[in-house]
Amino acid sequence: MDKQKLRILRSLFGNYRKVGEEFLFSCPFCKHHKPKLSVNLDKGAKCWVCGWATPNLYRLVRKFGNFEQRQEWKSFTNEIDINTFSEDLFGDLQEEPAPQTVDLPREFVSLANKNLPITSAMARSYLRSRGVTREDILRWKIGYCPSGEYKERVVVPSFNGDGYSNYFIARSYGREWPKYKNPPTARDIIFNELYIDWDQDLVIVEGVFDAIVAGPNAVPLLGSTIRESSKLFQEIVRHDTPIYVALDVDAEKKAMRLVRLLLQYDMEVYKVDISDHGATDVGEMSKEEFMQIKSGTPAINNDSYLLHKTTAI
Ligand SMILES: [Zn+2]
Repeated sequence: MDKQKLRILRSLFGNYRKVGEEFLFSCPFCKHHKPKLSVNLDKGAKCWVCGWATPNLYRLVRKFGNFEQRQEWKSFTNEIDINTFSEDLFGDLQEEPAPQTVDLPREFVSLANKNLPITSAMARSYLRSRGVTREDILRWKIGYCPSGEYKERVVVPSFNGDGYSNYFIARSYGREWPKYKNPPTARDIIFNELYIDWDQDLVIVEGVFDAIVAGPNAVPLLGSTIRESSKLFQEIVRHDTPIYVALDVDAEKKAMRLVRLLLQYDMEVYKVDISDHGATDVGEMSKEEFMQIKSGTPAINNDSYLLHKTTAI
């Protein structure tokens, strides 16, 4: 039955690309030049670009198919029209969950201020030792906490697309342990989405200090894994953003999984190899070094992906 369904969909929308359980077709609504309509034969369809979605594939067949195709589809799905009718009315009425926001620590002092208190000296010297410049501090809105729960930590806040803080990382610069203490909230956020330019190359790194080196258009994963359901992945596919993967040297498998996922969605993807330069993560490099390696990195296609994969074993 799946084969028959696919045959009908192919006659309507042309060839498809198989990704796991899903099939990528050209979207008949936004007509993006790449296959962006993701079809799951059991769960429905969704376009990554224009957002058109339905849990009921028959809607596609009814709209774009001829009488025979519609009859045939119905014959093996046993769908009755009344279902389609009520789904049409109510199917798209899903409530968006309220976006996650997080208050910055009460003791947060911005290092972007002109007159800084004496307690800021250690935080500033720590940042200097990591190569973070005054310009970086302004751009990333970096601050610190002299006291409180996040005492003696440099704080880098994240802002969502509407400008509300939705996460932060707090890195110890003194004796506080553990090194990182972050708010206990879900991590399916896009760190500093507010500042991301989806039309430019985007570098994906592991940590915030890596992002500061690789940036300004860089996003840290903060230990999370990108899946198709991740907000970051959805935005990347929606905007067709060219991606540079520059994860830590010891995260090779994670990096290759990400590369493969991006290739499956026909994205332009580059893998920045920092191991050749003796670094274990981007944060250890200078901005100039990173920029130089990045600009010399060729795009990965399916052939070079296999080569990478075999040499990574
Ligand atoms: Zn579309």
